[in-house]
This record gives sequence, C-alpha cells and structure tokens, in this order.
Amino acid sequence: MKINELNKSTPVFSLEIFPPKKTAPIDTIYNTLNELSDVSPDFISVTFGAGGSVSNNTMISIASTIKDKYKIESVAHMPCIYLTRDDAEHMLDELKANGIENILALRGDVNPDIPPVYQFRHASDLVEFIGEYGGFNVIGACYPETHLEAASAAEDIKNLKYKVDCGCNELISQLFFDNNVFYSFLEKCEIAGINVPVEAGIMPVTNKRQIERMTRMCGAKLPEKFRRVLDRYEFNDEALRDAGIAYAIDQITDLMANGVSGVHLYTMNNPYVAKRIYAAVKNILKA
Ligand code: FAD
Repeated sequence: MKINELNKSTPVFSLEIFPPKKTAPIDTIYNTLNELSDVSPDFISVTFGAGGSVSNNTMISIASTIKDKYKIESVAHMPCIYLTRDDAEHMLDELKANGIENILALRGDVNPDIPPVYQFRHASDLVEFIGEYGGFNVIGACYPETHLEAASAAEDIKNLKYKVDCGCNELISQLFFDNNVFYSFLEKCEIAGINVPVEAGIMPVTNKRQIERMTRMCGAKLPEKFRRVLDRYEFNDEALRDAGIAYAIDQITDLMANGVSGVHLYTMNNPYVAKRIYAAVKNILKA
C-alpha cells in the first residue's frame, strides 16, 4: 500500500533501519526486526548509502521482507547522485518487481573519493523521474535547520517547494532536538505553500560521540538543556541511554500535543531503545 493512502486519523509513527554492512550477515537485520515485533509502526524505511556501502539488492530484499513477512509497509531510500538514468530505471524495475510502492527520493551525500555521475543533480530530478515512471508514492527529505549546503534558509525552502511540486506526497525531516525549530520550519513551509504532511525525525541519543558526529554531519543544534544531559552522563552508558530515551519521549509528547503529522524514529537498529520509546508513547500516538 502507498503510505499516502494510509488512514491518517491518527499521526503516523514510522521507523528507520539501515541494512547490515557488506561484511555482516543479512540475518542481523532480521534479528532486529524480530525484536521490534511489539512495536507497531505505520511503515519502516530502509536506508541505502549513496556511495554504495551495501548493494541495492540487500536494501530491496530487506524492504520486501518487511512487507511480506512482517506485514508492515516499507519505504525504500533511493539516493540518486551516483545513479545514471539507466541505473535508476533498473532500480525502479527491481522495486516494482518486489512489490515496493514507496520511495524516499534523495540526492545523497557526495563521497569525496567518488565523483558524482550528475545525471540527477538534485533529489527533485529523481522525484520527476519516478513520477514519469509511474506507480510509486514519492517522499522527500527536508531540513528544519536548513540543509548544510543551502545558500540560505529561504533558498532551501524555495528548493523544497520545487521538490514537492515535482511530485512528493510527503516529507520526512532531518533529526532535530529543539521542537521550536521544527514548529518554525512548519510555519515557513506553510507560508511557502508546501502543503504536504511533514513527519518529524527523532533520534534517541544513546552515545555522546555518536551524536556529536551526527550533529557535525547534519548541522542539528544541541539545545543547552540537552547538552547538560550529555555532559552529565557521558561516562555512564546506562544513565545516558535512559536520559536519551526520556528526552526523545518528551520531544514526541510535545510534538503530538502540537498536532504534528507524524514522527519518524531513527532507530539506529537498536530495538531496545525503539521498544521503550514506543511503549511510552503508544497511547499518546493513538489519542
Ligand atoms: P536535495 O533535495 O537535492 O537538496 C540538497 C541541497 O541542494 C539543498 O541544499 C537544497 O537546498 C539544494 N537544492 C535542491 N534543489 C535545488 C535546485 N533545483 N537548485 C539549486 N539547489 C537545489 N542519504 C543517503 O545516502 N542514504 C539514505 O538512505 C539517506 N536517508 C535520509 C533520510 C532522511 C529522512 C534525510 C533527512 C536524509 C537522508 N539522507 C540519506 C541524507 C541526504 O541524502 C543528504 O542530506 C543530502 O545531502 C541531501 O539530500 P536531499 O535529498 O535532501 O537533496
């Protein structure tokens, strides 16, 4: 089913997982999915590195198993910066043959060691291409704190509006830790005439170094309140994990109270954390 056709009387709750590295057995991801069985997401999205750290067959096989075995809708991530138009068409053929109906259309990050192909310069080029191919629900990425390469926040919103007009039915946001930043971004989208649902990306922090690396890569700011938590518990793994879970629950509760369209949880393939968060917010999501 296309996720834009889901019954959205309640906010969407989705999970993101990533495929195991080429060197790891694929079964590790199925162990993760088995452990997630008491979490009930509307869909699970499967990442796919633009630089090709896993094969697209692995990603497609995981996305199709999520649908067929776990009976959960899946979304395939599709970065395009290293794809030719023939590659993209072949990948769409494979996705279609495997019954996958939802694609998160992405540009992907440039690997400094691999020159881009540049047949698709922006995600919007891929969104148009998928629209011409037909038969898929297309989702796009967005950046509440502005994409790092954008000339300005206003330019980024203008480019986002263009991407949505090319055929995105919804958006999933980059992670953020300050809900006010997200609310202000939603206002800017509304003013720009971007009227599709925007799912809020939430990353539970369980490790100080991991989050410092992520925020460096994506530009998300750490609010003072959150930084104090990281500083206080950085050498106590269990306390930091519990504080990170509590912070994510607090963020989701506030987002729900403010009527957002949905929450996309970056699970980092950690079922324990996803289960604890889901247990704490499931009644809030359904209310
Ligand atoms: P775009 O929408 O193309 O935007 C990239 C930059 O180009 C922005 O600065 C934008 O303002 C600018 N731009 C866009 N259109 C134009 C235009 N027409 N003219 C001029 N400038 C323009 N990466 C992966 O490799 N694999 C994944 O699985 C993955 N999953 C992700 C999931 C989510 C929810 C998010 C938020 C990101 C994910 N990424 C993933 C990272 C993403 O690929 C990078 O952030 C990348 O740098 C931008 O991708 P995009 O699709 O947002 O690009």
